[in-house]
Formats: sequence, C-alpha cells, structure tokens
Amino acid sequence: MQLSVVVPCYNEEESVPMLVERLVQAIEPWAQDAEIILADDGSSDETWAAIEAAHAKYPVVRGIRLSANRGHQVALTAGLEAARGARIFMLDADLQDPPEILPDMMMMMDRGYDVVYGRRAERQGETLFKKATAYLFYRFLNTLSDVDIPKDTGDFRLVSRRALQAVLAMPERARFIRGMFAWAGYRQIGLEYVRDARVAGVTKYPFRAMLRFATDALTGFSTKPLKMATRLAFLSLYVTFLMAVYVFLSLILYNTAPGWASMLLAISFFSGIQLLTLGIMGEYIGRLYMESKQRPMYFLSEETGAAAAADPVNI
Ligand code: UDP
Ligand code: MG
Repeated sequence: MQLSVVVPCYNEEESVPMLVERLVQAIEPWAQDAEIILADDGSSDETWAAIEAAHAKYPVVRGIRLSANRGHQVALTAGLEAARGARIFMLDADLQDPPEILPDMMMMMDRGYDVVYGRRAERQGETLFKKATAYLFYRFLNTLSDVDIPKDTGDFRLVSRRALQAVLAMPERARFIRGMFAWAGYRQIGLEYVRDARVAGVTKYPFRAMLRFATDALTGFSTKPLKMATRLAFLSLYVTFLMAVYVFLSLILYNTAPGWASMLLAISFFSGIQLLTLGIMGEYIGRLYMESKQRPMYFLSEETGAAAAADPVNI
C-alpha cells in the first residue's frame, strides 16, 4: 500500500463528514492504493456512527475505536499502528490542517526526505491566549531539550515507513509524537501552511490538557529541570550570604539585628525553593512509576468491516 492517512477523532461528529469529503478529494491520485484510518478516541457523541457511515460510503475509509478516551497522542499512535502504507500522512480531524497540501509533501518526499512536517505560518480562529502559550511553549521546550524540535509545528506531517517504524519502536506511554519524530532523525523538512479555524465543534484541548501535554513534552525530552535544583541551591546560598552581610553590618553600624520580618521572608523563600524542587522530582518519579507499570496504551473496542466482535479486540 502506498499511502495511509491517519486521523485521531474525539467528539468530532460534525467534522468527520466534511473531513472525509476533503480527504477523499486530496488523496485522489493515490486512491487506488490508499487507506484513510479514523481513530475514534472513545468519543461520547456520534463520532463512531459518522465513521461507520463514511466507511459505508467510501471503502477507502477504515475506522478503529478505542475502548476509552486516552488522549490525542495515544489515539494517533493507535492509528499509526494500524497503518499499512509506505507513506503515512497525519492530520487533525477538525480540518485545521489543510489536506490539500499532501501533493506538495509527497513531492518533497520524492526528493528523499523522510519527514515533511507542516509549519504554521499563521493560525486563524484561535484565541490570543492559545497562540501566546503555544509560541512560548515551543521556545521554552527548545531551550530545555537536547533534541531540536521544530518550532510551531504540530503532528501534521507526512512520514516514511522507516521514520514511522522508528517512532513506533519507542515504547513510552507519555507520548509527544512530534518530538519523537525529531529524535528519530532522518532527513526532515518543514513546509509552511496557514492553519485554518476549526470547521465545527470546539477545541478538545482545554487548559488542563494543554498543561499535561506540555509537561509530557518537557519531562519526556529533558532532564534539565531536575538539574535546576543544584542551581537553585547555589542561588539560595547566595541570598543567605547577602542576608548575613546585612545582619552583620546592621549589628556593627546600628547595634541592632533585624527582627522577625526578615526571618519570615527567609523561611518562606527557602521552603518555596524546597517545595519546588520536590515537586519537579515528584513529576519525574510519577512518570517513572507510570511507565514502569508497562500497561498497554489502549484497547480497541471496534473496527469497521470486522464482524461484530464478541470480545473486545485486544492489542
Ligand atoms: N483529540 C483526540 N483525543 C483527545 C483530544 C483531541 O483524539 O482527547 C483529537 C481531536 O479530535 C483532533 C486533534 O486531536 O483531531 C486535535 O485536537 P483539537 O483540534 O481539539 O486541538 P487544538 O487544535 O485546539 O489544539
Ligand atoms: Mg484543532
């Protein structure tokens, strides 16, 4: 098979029909030898029915359904594991990433690139807050991590089979897929595009999910926050030294030592630093624990075309 398209869908009942129409158009040149995989991330609306309807209309569409909502990155992983194509194209269900860019990406890949990722030249229909946090996040992440993760990119990309194989060989459960592709290496290149507004529905990334996504990325690609504790220790020693000088001078000059106010400040300053470093350590230890459980990332409860399974399909 030449081409697999993989789309994670969570509560996208309104987007799916439009998505499928545009995708079927976009993959026309390869349609003889292609598949469109829609991975339903345990949606609570009629997304699965929409996927089944799409499959009935276009046999090129395949659906898989996760047994529960596991998050964008895991749903995408499930789709990627189901993909059989030599080249794999991934995008969001809400059509923020235009599928029409596929021929350009295919052309780049013909020139020998293994990963062609979309770079957002502009984002439409997103809040100023989202744009600002995304802007800061990609820059902060790059300062901290040793891997050069392309700025302002999403998971919107075309990848070769061997690049995908590399990413699927990484067993971590806290997944940050765009970073994993960057880490995998191979020849990569970005293609600029304008990120449209959602076609329907609302974002499935509330602030809490964004925060979790960001910590997954940071802890997955850097241990620098852990080393920060040492630097903070030096900083606190330095502050203590300054305070000592101050106390000493005021004893000599005014014959009085400053009272409880400075004591209170010092105590809260140092306990703040201690709690912060403990919290950072806790973040990593929690992740160690979760990874060490070795749980499967997801289970499939349904697949289009498969005879109604008596038992849930286990991956
Ligand atoms: N998504 C998912 N599971 C989730 C949350 C989101 O599969 O728990 C999918 C969603 O359907 C969409 C993609 O991930 O295809 C990106 O989500 P969204 O468009 O809401 O994020 P945003 O573009 O607002 O960052
Ligand atoms: Mg979106």
